[in-house]
Amino acid sequence: MKTLPVSKKQLNWINIIFFSLLPVIALTGTVLLCTLKPICWATWILAGTYMTITGLSITAGYHRLFSHKSYQTVWPVRLVLLLFGAGAFQGSALEWCSDHRNHHRYTDTDSDPYSIKKGFWHAHIGWLFRLDTRAYDFANVEDLHADKLIAWQHKHYLKIAIFMGFLLPAGIATLWGDPLGGLIIAGALRMTLNHHFTFAINSIAHTFGKRTYSHEQSARDNWFTALVTYGEGFHNFHHQFPIDYRNGIRPYHFDPTKWLIKTLSWCQLASDLKSVSTHRIIRYRVQTEEFQLISRLTQAGANQLQVNPLQSMTKPILDNIYQALKRMDALEKEYLAVLKQKYDKHHPSKNAYYIQLKSYKAQFKATQQNLKNYLQAWKKALKAYNQLNTNLS
Ligand SMILES: [Zn+2]
Ligand SMILES: [Zn+2]
Repeated sequence: MKTLPVSKKQLNWINIIFFSLLPVIALTGTVLLCTLKPICWATWILAGTYMTITGLSITAGYHRLFSHKSYQTVWPVRLVLLLFGAGAFQGSALEWCSDHRNHHRYTDTDSDPYSIKKGFWHAHIGWLFRLDTRAYDFANVEDLHADKLIAWQHKHYLKIAIFMGFLLPAGIATLWGDPLGGLIIAGALRMTLNHHFTFAINSIAHTFGKRTYSHEQSARDNWFTALVTYGEGFHNFHHQFPIDYRNGIRPYHFDPTKWLIKTLSWCQLASDLKSVSTHRIIRYRVQTEEFQLISRLTQAGANQLQVNPLQSMTKPILDNIYQALKRMDALEKEYLAVLKQKYDKHHPSKNAYYIQLKSYKAQFKATQQNLKNYLQAWKKALKAYNQLNTNLS
């Protein structure tokens, strides 16, 4: 791919007109329709359903499947994701993924297409108002270009997007005699919300929230954006572990995209779901917590004499945590290696084989318990740090 020059200041008038007019048409159209007669409940249900399907096609399709390849799926599912993804009117999958891969590769730099460093407005929508002077050679999405369905969607994008985005919802609403409601509410209004919910990831989730797993980038975990983006708001996790098919890793995290992918896999429609090991996730979380606390204390004016006793208290705890994580990783690998060995039923070492597996399990369990205790101790240490921080400020 050519080097990425900083975009020139040419305006993209097509995008400016489209993204400005669409919300105006959507809002005034909806108000006018509502004043003329009550909108049929079926139209509202269609708009909600259509918003969910097109939104999930962006998150589970354009994002986690095509951009990051965090799982594999069968072609009929890919086709559905491409059709409804086009209905969200966010560009072809090829363009979307090319921009998104650049966003991950060049996060917070000039070559990040929607870098938050250029301002909240730029990251949200302003970047779309400038002509991208980069030649779209799609070198970073060559793997996707080879996919016939993706290439087909790219070639016929505008026709597919107009059909899926406007004509189909209008056509469906004709069934109960409300084609205009279908066009305005399930088409324009739904699409406007689709747009700004997705854009919120680039603006809100790069500005507000917690940096749980990495302090080195602007991406943040933000539960509010997760609510309207089908789970994409856990953005700090996603930037640190983009290969993971999940964004919200805890069971209580609202991540419908993850649930959809998991459901597809239960139905044998998705496979090769990639996830980062819990040990790695814990390691990054603890390292980030330690870094953030020391930075906060230093900023609050703590001197070395105040910080040293805390650091000497926490150092052995952290060492224990890292050692336990390392040990668990090693035990897991060894256990899986032994498990893979096909043993001969009549082999005299049959018992030894099982004893070995049992021993790994026992060692793993014991290390896991130790890790739990060390993490508890780390939690207590964090409280002590926070107390000092409160006293200082
Ligand atoms: Zn991001
Ligand atoms: Zn991503």
